[in-house]
Amino acid sequence: MSFNDNASLDTSQVSGGGGRGRGGLAVGGGIGGLLIVVVGLFFGVDLTGGSNPGTTTPDPSSTLAQECRTGADANTNVDCRLVGTVNSVQAYWATALPAAGATYVRVNTVGYQGQTQSACGTASNAVGPFYCPTDKLVYIDTSFFAELTSRFGADGGALAQEYVVAHEYGHHVQDILGLLDNAQRDPQGATSGAVRTELQADCLAGMWANGAASTKDENGRAYLKPLTQRDIESALSAASAVGDDRIQQKSQGGVNPESWTHGSAAQRQRWFTTGYTKGSLQACDTFSARTL
Ligand SMILES: [Zn+2]
Repeated sequence: MSFNDNASLDTSQVSGGGGRGRGGLAVGGGIGGLLIVVVGLFFGVDLTGGSNPGTTTPDPSSTLAQECRTGADANTNVDCRLVGTVNSVQAYWATALPAAGATYVRVNTVGYQGQTQSACGTASNAVGPFYCPTDKLVYIDTSFFAELTSRFGADGGALAQEYVVAHEYGHHVQDILGLLDNAQRDPQGATSGAVRTELQADCLAGMWANGAASTKDENGRAYLKPLTQRDIESALSAASAVGDDRIQQKSQGGVNPESWTHGSAAQRQRWFTTGYTKGSLQACDTFSARTL
């Protein structure tokens, strides 16, 4: 119940995946040679090998507009929570980034079901939520939020889900700031550019959490209620659940830091907490940090 019931939601910031899948990508395949390390929540592979057309899913945009009007809807409906979180995160950065000397540019989230095409390759729950720097869109299948609990072991709190959205928009902020190349140039290893990029996205998610209760809709109503300790624990449970060591231990039965792309559970929690407590871009400078 993290949203204020009377906050007003803007569904135009979340678009459907079906229509995009029928675009030039599937037909032309002109992006075949492009190698991009997609910055996701828990993986660091390029998706260009999987550029099959994908299934066509119904465009949820019209349904969202009918179902998701207020914060009360965001509290009860996972799709509306995605909309509300996208609204809140983008409203936060629209204020916070200019304060740091940069200009925020709004980008949409593609909310899809099953799989859809991105300019970076096929989006599906197998790869999880990600930000594609080529088309500058965030891709999230909201059924992932159930998986976050059942498959990865995060708790079921709203902030666990909201952290995921804020992390992906953190990558968009990095894109605006010209920092994403760090992940492309140095994609693997415990102190790699990729890990520093991902930990910074966690820190930027923490920054949003820090400012969330004072981030307001167009009518001046805060999207979120003041966060409780319980909310923060939910966000931390998600950050921990998608740590490289956790995922490796589960899938391979051992931990190999040389192939890390996102950082350990403890590191992801630490950087989220840094962003949450400090609330500044300077505090989130994982690229010059000596200890991650
Ligand atoms: Zn990421």
